[in-house]
Amino acid sequence: MANYIPDEKVSQVRNRADIVDIISEVVRLKKTGKNYLGLCPFHTEKTPSFTVSPDKQIFHCFGCGEGGDVFSFLMKYGNGAFPDAVRQVARRYGIDLPARALTPEQKKRLSQREEMAKVNQRAMAFYSHSLKNKTIGVKALSYLRDRGITDETIEAFDIGFAPDGWRHLGDHLKKAGVAAGIVQSAGLIVQNKRQNGYYDRFRNRIIFPIFDLGDRVVGFGGRVIGADEPKYLNSPETAIYNKRRILYGLNRTRPACRRSGVIHIVEGYFDLITLYQHGIENTAATLGTALTEDHLRLIKAYAERAVLVFDADQAGMKAALRGSGLFLKAGIDARVLVLPDGQDPDSFVRESGAPAFEAAVKKAPGIVEFIIDAAIHRYGKSVEGKVRVISELEPMFATIDDPVARSLYIRLLSERIEVDERAIREKMTRASVPVDRRDRREPFAEPGLKGDRGVSRAFKLEKLIVAMLLQYPEMIPDVEKSGIIDRFSDLELQALGRSVIENRHGSGVDISDLMEKSDKPELKKTIAALAIGRDDGWSRKGCLQLIEQYQKISDPDRRQIIAKIKAAEAAGDHETVARLLQLQQARGQRQKT
Ligand SMILES: [Zn+2]
Repeated sequence: MANYIPDEKVSQVRNRADIVDIISEVVRLKKTGKNYLGLCPFHTEKTPSFTVSPDKQIFHCFGCGEGGDVFSFLMKYGNGAFPDAVRQVARRYGIDLPARALTPEQKKRLSQREEMAKVNQRAMAFYSHSLKNKTIGVKALSYLRDRGITDETIEAFDIGFAPDGWRHLGDHLKKAGVAAGIVQSAGLIVQNKRQNGYYDRFRNRIIFPIFDLGDRVVGFGGRVIGADEPKYLNSPETAIYNKRRILYGLNRTRPACRRSGVIHIVEGYFDLITLYQHGIENTAATLGTALTEDHLRLIKAYAERAVLVFDADQAGMKAALRGSGLFLKAGIDARVLVLPDGQDPDSFVRESGAPAFEAAVKKAPGIVEFIIDAAIHRYGKSVEGKVRVISELEPMFATIDDPVARSLYIRLLSERIEVDERAIREKMTRASVPVDRRDRREPFAEPGLKGDRGVSRAFKLEKLIVAMLLQYPEMIPDVEKSGIIDRFSDLELQALGRSVIENRHGSGVDISDLMEKSDKPELKKTIAALAIGRDDGWSRKGCLQLIEQYQKISDPDRRQIIAKIKAAEAAGDHETVARLLQLQQARGQRQKT
C-alpha cells in the first residue's frame, strides 16, 4: 500500500480530532441538546436533519442516511481517499505522520502544489515590501489613500504593489534561487513570444493576494494604477487556484459571517475591503465569475442568508439571474440589493456610510421577487410581455421545492402582472419537477439498512437492539445472557451486534474503535445511524421489554409453527390451521406463566 498509515497513528489522529470542529468549518452547526444540528451538505434540505454527536464523535443525517466518523465525513465531502482524510486531520492538529510513500507522479504533483503556494507566499512578501518602499510604492500608496484605505486594512488583507517594469518579481525570485518553471506555473511570470525569457504578469498594479480557507496564498488579483487595460487582472487558474471554488476575503471574514448568519456577496476587491473597513465585515467577493454550486456550499457553511450586492449595470443582474436557481435549490435565503445608478458598494459606503448601506440591505427584496420585477421591467405589461414574463420565470419556479413558497411566489407574480393565479399555476405545473422525497425525517430509513418498506418486524427489532447496545451499553450483559444476537435474521446486524459486545470497554462501548475496525463505508454509516442518540432516551425497563419481545418473535419453535400455519393456509387445510393456532396460543399461555 503506497499510502499506508500505521493503525496506531490513525488512532492517535482520531483521538485528537474533534468532529464538531472539523465539520463546523463547512457546515453551520447549532447545539441542540447533546448533539449539533445543521443542514446536510450531502442532500438538499430546508429543515436540519444532519446530526453530529460530540460524545460519540460521529455524524448521521436523518434525511439521506449518510453517516460515519470524522474520516468518513472528509472523504465524502472532499471526494478523497482514507489516507488523505487522515493526513488532513493530522495536519490540522499538528500530528506528524510518517512521510507517505508516493508514486513519482504523485510526489511531483504534491510537491508542485506545495512549491506553488510557497512561491506565492514569497511573491506576496515582495509585493507588500514594494508598496511600503518610500520611492517605488509612493504612487500606489497614495492611490489607496485616495480610496480611503487605511494602513490597518492594508495589513489585514496583505495588499501590495507590483512595480512598473518587466522583470522585478522574476529577477527577485531568480536571485532567491526559485526555478522559473514553478514561478511560471504559479502564473506569476509569462514566457515571452520568442520563448527565450519571461516577464512579470503583474506590472504597475495594486495587488490583492487571494487566500484559500487554509490561509494559503493561492493567487493574486491586480488593479491597474492609471489608464491601462484591463482594469483588473487575476492569476490564471492553476493547480491550487480555482476561482469557481474561492470567495475572496472569506478566509478573514468567515467568523463575522457565522456570527451574523448573513453574508454580503460583492463583485470586487475594493467593494469587499471598503465594506470591511466600515465595519460590514460579513462579506465575500466573487472573482469575476458567476456564482457556482461550490460557492453556494461555502456560503451555506457560514450563513443562512446571502445578500447579493450589485451595481445598477446589466452584467451584475444577469449574474444574479443565473445564480437564482442555485440559491433556491440550496435552500439559502437570498436577497438582492441593487445600488443606485453609478454606485458600487465601495463608493456607496464611502459616500453614504455604513448605516445607509445597512438600511438598504434591510429593504432588499428576495431573489425571486427581484427576478419577477426584473422580468416585468424587461418585457413590459402588454399581453405579449406578460406571456414572456411567465415563460421566462417557469424554469426558476420549477426549482422551488417548497410548495408553500412556490404558492406564495405564484401569488406575487399574479399580483404583479395582473394575471389570474390559477392560470399561472396551470401553466407552471406542467414544467414542475418532483419534490425531493428524501428530505424527510425518518430515523431508521437509511439506505444502508434496506428500505423500511416490507421490512420484517424481526429486522426492525434487531436494529433497535443494536441501537440499544450502542446507546445504552449497560444492557450488554443482559443481551449476552439472553443469546438473542445468535438468533438474528440479518447477518450484518448480527456481526455488528457481536462486535459491539466483543469490543466493549468496561461498561461502555468505544464507537471510534468500532468505526476504526469497520473498513466498509456502508457499515460505518449503519453504526452512525444506530449510535446517534434518541431524544427520549432508554430505560432499563424498556430495554428488558425489548429483549423479551424479540425473544418471543424469534423463538425457533414459534417460527416453525407460523411457517406451518402459512403453508396450511395456502393449501386450504383449515383443520390444520385451527390445530396449529390452538397450539400456538397454548404456548403463549405457558410463556406468560
Ligand atoms: Zn443528508
